[in-house]
Amino acid sequence: MLIDSHCHLFHDKYKKSPNDLVKEADAEGVTKLICIGTSLAENISVLNAVAEFPGVYGALGIYPHDDMHKPLEELIDSLEKQITSSPKIVAIGECGIDITEWRGGRSLEEQIPLFEEQLKLAVKLNLPVVIHNRNGEDIVISLVKKYVQAGLRGVIHCFTSDWDFAQEILDMGFFISFAGNITYPSNNVLREIVKKVPVDHFLVETDSPYLPPQAHRGQVNEPKYVRIVAEKVAAIKNLSFEETSDYAYKNTCALFKTV
Ligand SMILES: [Zn+2]
Repeated sequence: MLIDSHCHLFHDKYKKSPNDLVKEADAEGVTKLICIGTSLAENISVLNAVAEFPGVYGALGIYPHDDMHKPLEELIDSLEKQITSSPKIVAIGECGIDITEWRGGRSLEEQIPLFEEQLKLAVKLNLPVVIHNRNGEDIVISLVKKYVQAGLRGVIHCFTSDWDFAQEILDMGFFISFAGNITYPSNNVLREIVKKVPVDHFLVETDSPYLPPQAHRGQVNEPKYVRIVAEKVAAIKNLSFEETSDYAYKNTCALFKTV
């Protein structure tokens, strides 16, 4: 049994329906998916998916560059209402810091309060947080540190940073989630991190439709390919596929308590 701990089921890139994606994943032993929302509109689709599919759970959040033109207070109020409307919403996110592709998005000064308010909401609702980090390591560490005593827990999704960052985040009890980019030939640094992360602190994900594993590069990624990520983790850590899947499954359940 496998869980894709991070996928987006609603995206124009897919030529398949969410129903097909969920069914095909299930046929590959991927029995549960955490479907991620990045804006108030996408969050509504996630709420519909968790109501429709027994094996689908949700995380709702505001991505650093989404819902650009709504006031912060209004965004957080609406997000809280969405999250508390279903017991199958098991986390807040994805939220975080993104300082590579501006794409006319939020400045760093605007991203920080948006991220921090979602961390506060996670503490308030006692839910884990799914963090997106692109080149914001120092800011992520300092903000997580601020709320960890208050009970903040969570995961750095699609980990792409260095071991120093991994160690700091692990020391705060956070999990690290690996995606298809661990299969890319040039990613030796990332594979060293896969090797070092303790077996009780990693998750696996696809981040589909993005980041297809090497065998499917150039194609649209799908939740069923989380199997390839788990196989790669197994090979790197010198574990069997079954042991690796078991660890990932248990870790995901431990983090997202109600899964
Ligand atoms: Zn994502």
